[in-house]
Amino acid sequence: MPDHRLLQRQIRKHLGPDAVIPPEWQGLLQAVDDTYEQFDNDRKLSERAMQLSSDELLAASQKLQAQYAHNLEVLNRLRASVAALRPADLPSGVRTEDDLLTVAGLLEDLIARRNEAEAAMRKATEVAESANRAKSEFLANMSHEIRTPMNAIIGMGSLLLDLSLAPEQREYVETIRNSADALLEIINDILDFSKIEAGRLELDPNPFDLRLSLEQVLDLFAARCAEKNIELGLYFAAGMPDLVVGDSTRLRQVLVNLVGNAVKFTAHGGITVSVTAHPAESGWQLSFVVEDSGIGIPEDRMDRLFKSFSQVDASTTRRYGGSGLGLAISQRLVELMGGRIMVTSRLGKGSTFRFAIRAGIAAPARTETTTPFAVELSGRRALVVDDNEVNRRILQRQLQSWGIEVECHADGPSTLAHLESGARYDFALLDFNMPDMDGLELAAAMQAKLGDKSPPLILLTSRGGLKEPTGIRVAARMTKPVKPRELQTVLGQVLRYQHVPQADPAKFASAFDRDFARRHPMRILVAEDNAVNRKVLLLMLGKLGYRADAVASGIEALEGLTRQPYDLVVMDMQMPEMDGLEATRKLRTNVPITEAPYILALTANARKEDYNACIEAGMHDFLSKPMRIDDLMAAFERAYHWLQIDQRTTRARAHPQLLP
Ligand code: ADP
Repeated sequence: MPDHRLLQRQIRKHLGPDAVIPPEWQGLLQAVDDTYEQFDNDRKLSERAMQLSSDELLAASQKLQAQYAHNLEVLNRLRASVAALRPADLPSGVRTEDDLLTVAGLLEDLIARRNEAEAAMRKATEVAESANRAKSEFLANMSHEIRTPMNAIIGMGSLLLDLSLAPEQREYVETIRNSADALLEIINDILDFSKIEAGRLELDPNPFDLRLSLEQVLDLFAARCAEKNIELGLYFAAGMPDLVVGDSTRLRQVLVNLVGNAVKFTAHGGITVSVTAHPAESGWQLSFVVEDSGIGIPEDRMDRLFKSFSQVDASTTRRYGGSGLGLAISQRLVELMGGRIMVTSRLGKGSTFRFAIRAGIAAPARTETTTPFAVELSGRRALVVDDNEVNRRILQRQLQSWGIEVECHADGPSTLAHLESGARYDFALLDFNMPDMDGLELAAAMQAKLGDKSPPLILLTSRGGLKEPTGIRVAARMTKPVKPRELQTVLGQVLRYQHVPQADPAKFASAFDRDFARRHPMRILVAEDNAVNRKVLLLMLGKLGYRADAVASGIEALEGLTRQPYDLVVMDMQMPEMDGLEATRKLRTNVPITEAPYILALTANARKEDYNACIEAGMHDFLSKPMRIDDLMAAFERAYHWLQIDQRTTRARAHPQLLP
């Protein structure tokens, strides 16, 4: 008797309940049985296809193809069996040709249903694929919707920061700016994820300053760590290249994610980031270790870590926030950069994430073989006093890597006791924030005890944490996290001059170059439908010295251009009535090239397709929102040069004022 229940029922129905199946029929029934089986598989697959997550889509369609091939084989066997069966072969108990016809009818029915199933399956795959596309589109749209107001927040933030604010106000505005940046990271995560899903993420390698990138990453978390009272340290191994070639944005993204997680999940102790570089085949192998003393990750949850939208413990989501996308993205990015990411962790003790990537050599490749300072650091003796073990360790490692002999203490009293023994140091790094006796008190006590023989003291503080000391000689003050290069500079200065002038916090450099418009004169038209963003842009342009005109749609932009000539149109891509792309196309066909302005697209869509669409429509350049003032100025500079050089002869007649 065949295995398939439906077939068994059919046989009982047509041949009677006690039918003895003649051996000659075995081949045929086996083939029918297989066909039923295949039919079941098909059904399961097509049902599954309807629920597919895009991650599984590829695997599923491969399976589907294998299944088609197998189906074909089974079908061929079936046909061969039917063909081999002749009425003459029929055993006497069987009710001759009628029965055979019935069976043949069943087979045909079966084959038809199988074909239907196959068609349904193809359809389901198509649906799943288009659902996936729709998902990507949806994510891109959402990101656009969020970027638009973000542009206002970030833009207004930088305008505010440019005013002379009281320190407290400045701090608030900076917080708003930082939070807006953080929010932007999340939006970018979502966008990246959809790009990765669609296999559209590409690296953009460029030479970059490795240390600077790392320091900037740590800067992002300095305030948060100070707030949580945890340490954040950075360690560079000796022999690091200054410049490497790689995708610094993506590297930064991975580091921001790992350090961000470490900060998020650590309540005591701290986080260290260590970097080493080894020459590798045609470049560098850069290894990064992010180690924290946080809550740790349970052994049985490790495998979930790198899955998208997954958090180790759903309850932590509510407590710590997060989308669960960070590590999934980081993993793919590290893989794209030619490396792997690994994690080890002990519950309650902390986690260590390691990854390595390949980077190219940037010419000229310089390595740090000699110290760039006149003062020799090697052979010096340092005293490090910090209650935090992580911070002590990292300072020790860093100083030792420069050949400095280091002695560490965890508190003021034990340091003072040790000084009794007559130990002498070339300089001391004192943490300000220590229980019982803080860094200033220790500094005062040391100077009282040692007088002129007191080593130069460098105080380490968290941001904004220190009042002006009176009567205490502090050689330099450094804000945590202490950055290796900065420490090196400070040490060079301290050891040479024994005093480092402090930057005056009241004097800050404005991000806006008020002379910009005079150096880059252009008549500017802004086309942007969103009133707030229009205002932000006009204010920014005002700060650069431009008086621009503004309109709210593509149609108005075209009208504006017929009324008077402009050199540069800053064009939002998405506007009601007529969007930026259409306005540009119209402009390109209607306005003679000598009169046509330079068009800078401004859009909250940050995808490569959007960029391509702008360029295809005839725009010259592309800025994605939220835009930063530096990017805006760089784009304006490009516009100015284009107007100057590429169009010099033709445009000069129309706009003589453009010539220098
Ligand atoms: P999220 O955006 O939610 O942080 P991630 O993919 O970056 O997403 O991290 C996923 C989960 O992995 C986190 O929610 C957390 O449960 C766990 N995790 C990541 N890093 C650490 C860490 N340093 N210590 C403890 N748990 C961590």
